Amino acid sequence: MKLEILPISQPKEKIADESKLTFGTKFTDRMFAMQFDRDQGWHSAQIKPYGPLALDPAATVLHYSQEIFEGLKAFRRTDGSIALFRPKDNIARFNRSAERMCMPEVDEQFLLESLLELVRLEADWVPNSEGTSLYIRPTMIATEPFLGVRPADQYLCYIILSPVGAYYKGGIAPVKIWISDHYVRAAHGGTGEAKTGGNYAASLMAAREAAEQGYDQVLWLDAREKKYVEEVGSMNMVFLYDDKIITSPLKGTVLDGITRRSALKLLADRGYQIEERALSVDEVMEGAANGRLKEAFGTGTAVVISPVGSFCYQDHCVQLGNGETGELTMKLYQELTDIQYGRKPDKHDWVIKL
Ligand SMILES: *Cc1c(COP(=O)(O)O)cnc(C)c1O
Repeated sequence: MKLEILPISQPKEKIADESKLTFGTKFTDRMFAMQFDRDQGWHSAQIKPYGPLALDPAATVLHYSQEIFEGLKAFRRTDGSIALFRPKDNIARFNRSAERMCMPEVDEQFLLESLLELVRLEADWVPNSEGTSLYIRPTMIATEPFLGVRPADQYLCYIILSPVGAYYKGGIAPVKIWISDHYVRAAHGGTGEAKTGGNYAASLMAAREAAEQGYDQVLWLDAREKKYVEEVGSMNMVFLYDDKIITSPLKGTVLDGITRRSALKLLADRGYQIEERALSVDEVMEGAANGRLKEAFGTGTAVVISPVGSFCYQDHCVQLGNGETGELTMKLYQELTDIQYGRKPDKHDWVIKL
């Protein structure tokens, strides 16, 4: 398939003061888009001016949520060059999500090349300052105008780019986590391991209640017994427990995070034993109280590593250590961001330079 590149008329104004950059509010001049229908397969791939979509009000995505997305980043490195972190992993996961949602798979090589070309054309939008990056959002939606319930016959796949500010403006800071014993995110046989919008729509109520009570994030328990820790909002959870690393196994209800994978690899390199097993909420609460649970952090592309300061469950809150960022958590954050920004060698071939 050929990639057609259309001109833009007027570049938008960039945010000159990078300390004013936020997350996901400002978008670049161009976007990538391609269409799918049953007869032609994927076709009409273009890089074109960023702008609104024309969708039929009956488009399947608007009624039955046939939608998937990805999130990855391009970084401006210390030598001025631009690199992407593990983009092939994101595109492979995009196809796994597509399969789960009965959507057509994409040609991974073609999507990667299109993505790299888009970032190349928008290189001026990759910010320079510490902790900033260009967030990349590949998306696929069902566009067929049809109100029956079945997989659609027409799709749109697009990629948009957003310059994002440093997540930790005042340095890496621990969060307060609410463990929900009422709401659930994903059940066995459900769509928990697909990156699909519906999972997020279903999580909003719990997130709102948590925010109203002064918590930063919701930690989800398993849907069956409401006993085992699964993941947080848009992050996987990793625990340092008795000098071992414990994280939820990937058995269909937890998203296979790329930051999770990277963190586990770096921890294994440091000699830690990794246990992928279901940690119970009792182990978390007791472990924090008796000191066996030394550190806990979330992993996800947007924040990279998010340290946990305290956990709250039912009417009880426990602080981890002294409530500050753990030593290992801090080292891991440093190591991962050093690789992303090109300050340290990339021994695992995670980085793709433009
Ligand atoms: C995207 C996401 C993550 C984190 O995945 P990364 O690849 O590390 O960004 C974790 N949990 C959920 C539910 C997600 O959607």
